[in-house]
Amino acid sequence: MGVNFEDFSPFEEQELQRNVLTTNLEQMKSLIRSNSLWPLTFGLACCAIEMMGTGGSHYDLDRFGVIFRASPRQSDVMIVAGTVTKKMAPLLRRLYDQMPEPKWVIAMGSCATAGGPYIKSYSVVKGVDQIVPVDVYIPGCPPNPAALIYGIHKLQEKIRYEAKHGKRVTIRE
Ligand code: SF4
Repeated sequence: MGVNFEDFSPFEEQELQRNVLTTNLEQMKSLIRSNSLWPLTFGLACCAIEMMGTGGSHYDLDRFGVIFRASPRQSDVMIVAGTVTKKMAPLLRRLYDQMPEPKWVIAMGSCATAGGPYIKSYSVVKGVDQIVPVDVYIPGCPPNPAALIYGIHKLQEKIRYEAKHGKRVTIRE
């Protein structure tokens, strides 16, 4: 509902224009969620070293509200950092299922995205999207911390976009 400024004094009108934010509940929730992403703490291979570096003091993911959690029950983002073996796949899916909704997945690196250097291996899953739905794909072997931060920003944009437009999108950068 719009505001009719004719009903207010010039002072009130000025104050309303400065202070009133019009939005809806879903967009407000998406703004809060996108700025308080809590990824699950786990890594699968060498990409995880870059992920750990990104969480350290130099790159400081905390400044974006991104704080790693040790329990899937407290997490809303799964960063798949490393090679997904067929033996690990059911455990990864179980962790995903234990995360509460809403939740998102980032495939970090060429292994998680499509099997990477092990694409011909009998024991490696050729992309984690065969096990869980992926929201953001980050290429590289490994992607550096700047690439991971870029991917997280893209996820934040996606969360806000989906709340605004009411449809799901996938980001491949
Ligand atoms: S993409 Fe490269 S760096 Fe990342 S887990 Fe696979 S082999 Fe290691």
